[in-house]
Parts: sequence; C-alpha cells; structure tokens
Amino acid sequence: MSVECREKIVDERAGSPIAAALLAHYDAHARTLAWRISPQQRAAGVRPDPYRVWLSEVMLQQTTVAAVTAYFNAFTARWPTVEALAAAPAEDVLAAWAGLGYYARARNLIACARAVAIEHGGRFPDTEAGLRALPGIGDYTAAAVAAIAFDRPSAVVDANVERVTARLFAIETPLPAARAAIRAKVAQMLPSDRPGDFAQAMMDLGATLCTPRNPSCLLCPVAAHCAARACGIAESLPVKPPKKAKPHRTGTAWWIEQAGQVLLVQRADKGMLGAMRALPDDGWSAGRNGDAVAPIPGQWTHINAAVAHVFTHFSLELSLALYRGPQIDKVAIENLNGASWWPVERIAEAGLPTVFAKAARIAIQHR
Ligand code: SF4
Repeated sequence: MSVECREKIVDERAGSPIAAALLAHYDAHARTLAWRISPQQRAAGVRPDPYRVWLSEVMLQQTTVAAVTAYFNAFTARWPTVEALAAAPAEDVLAAWAGLGYYARARNLIACARAVAIEHGGRFPDTEAGLRALPGIGDYTAAAVAAIAFDRPSAVVDANVERVTARLFAIETPLPAARAAIRAKVAQMLPSDRPGDFAQAMMDLGATLCTPRNPSCLLCPVAAHCAARACGIAESLPVKPPKKAKPHRTGTAWWIEQAGQVLLVQRADKGMLGAMRALPDDGWSAGRNGDAVAPIPGQWTHINAAVAHVFTHFSLELSLALYRGPQIDKVAIENLNGASWWPVERIAEAGLPTVFAKAARIAIQHR
C-alpha cells in the first residue's frame, strides 16, 4: 500500500459516518436469530432478555450460529429463565450441552446462572464491570451482554468484528498484537445511541459480507470508508500468526456391556470434558497419550476402527476395545469415578461428548 493511499484514507476515518451507514444497513438487513430482537422491535420499545443474550453469547464462543441455534432453542424451552437454569441439576445441563463442545462453558454456565439467581435476585448486572464479576464471564461476554442487553457503550470485539475493523482501518499489524489497536478503533466508531445494535451490525457485516475470503465489498454499506478496500488488501487482513502444528495423541476407550447396559463413568470435574458422562478411557489428554491399561482385568477385543477427533489444541485417535470377560460385580468397578450402567438403546440420551458419542456408535456396530 502506498503512503499516499494509506494517509488519504486514514485521514477520512471517522466513527460516526461508519456507525450511521452500518446501522441503516442493519435496520434493513439484520439477520433473524433466535436470541435477537429485531431493530424494529427495539425501536418499538421491546428490550432484549439479558438471560437469552447471555446464553447465546456463551454458546456462540468458538461455535457457529448454525450449530448453536438448536441448542439455544432447546435450552430456552427447557429452562426459560435464569432461575430455572440455576435450579436444574448440573448433570442435566451438561447432558443438554453434549455435542456443543468446550465443556468448561457449560460448567461456568451453571455457576453463573446460580450466582445471578442467588446473589442478584435473578437479574443480571447491567454494567460491563458487574457482569465481569460473575463466574465464567470474561471481557468479551461482559462487553457483549452490556451492549446488546443494556445498550451500554461497550466495545464488542469478536472474530467478525476484528476482521471488519482491521479492514476498515487497514491494520496490518499481525494478530494478536493488533488487538489493542482494533479495540481502540471499535471504541472510536461506537455511536452514543444504539451501541447494542452497532455491535450486532458489526457482527452481521463480518458474518455476511466482510467474510474471510472474497468479501462482498460491492454490497458493503461502509465500502466508501474502507481503507483496505481502497488499497486492495482486504482479503489479506487481518494478518494471522502462522498456525502451529497440533500435537497428535492416541488413546483407548473401553466398552463394557452386560445385560443391555453399558458402563459409563463421570470424568473428573476439572480438565478436558470435565464432569461429563463418558466411556471409561485410558487417561489420554492434550499433554500425553493414553496408557492403554484397561480399567478392569479380563478379555478385551480391540476393534479395528478408531475415532479421529480434533480438539482445539490437539488431535486424537481413539481406539476402542470391547470387554469379553465374565460378569462384572460392583466391587470390580468401585474405583471408577461415577460408574453407572446406562441402557445401550438409550445411549443417545446419555449426553456423551462428541468424541465418546462417536466411539459408542462404532462399539455398537461391533459388539
Ligand atoms: Fe469488508 Fe469490503 Fe466492507 Fe471493507 S468494503 S468492510 S473489506 S466488505
């Protein structure tokens, strides 16, 4: 990019014209989302339900809108208020979360719902600082809920907003070093009225037009203000750090079945897939391979099929072994945490995390 190009464009940057153009576009083209009230509803005085805003923001972390929608609808049908969620048994919430991934979010969700119900009388704090003090609510979620639910002038910066802003201002510093500059630019653009709609408009722009590849600049409501577009570098921004190769781990899951029931355990509260129901395994983790030691002695048949699963920080190849030994009594399994027998024909209702649900499907085919 030439110096002239950058200087000319950067000099023209101003928060309010960008916000005004974006909000006008949002009024006409806002995505319809299960947790969102439309700009027209908002203009008519309808206020977002902070519970639904919070729940959606927690679910959407590192998860797509398409994946979240069904979970959001199921959660809000079953637990329509934060008090209802707070009163639910943790195992029910964890099971309902199964398949959505990043299970620490589900444990934090329960803790946060209980804090809001017990310590705040069922009302979410209406400031960024008050929200951040709740369990499991970090900077991003606090800003998003404060802006969307309470129209606080918070700078909400998710991956979509990060991309849009890096392009609008042609920020070529690689991530994550660019984050402070991006946040400052978002704060600069914030309108004094409708900051919640502004946050959602930025998210929509990133999700629909200012996409990672082939951004639709011809349709973009802020194209006239976009430095990256003017300089022909939109698709190269934001500059991402080189991807690190993920370590590859191996492990084994153990299928122990008798009388139509399979043995499930509860994983340790802390750590990967914490507190989730699961098949017994051999202790694999992000940091090490499993030890291949079966949880009980006996005959085992190793299946010639493995589950391939990719976690955020590593990939896993999970082998499967079926128990073929004699009848198991209580004593044999008393050292297994939370051991319980679950009907095989109802395994889909056990709330197994995806990696174990995949393993269960393979085991059922081979038993
Ligand atoms: Fe993104 Fe293009 Fe709009 Fe710039 S003009 S914000 S690159 S879609």
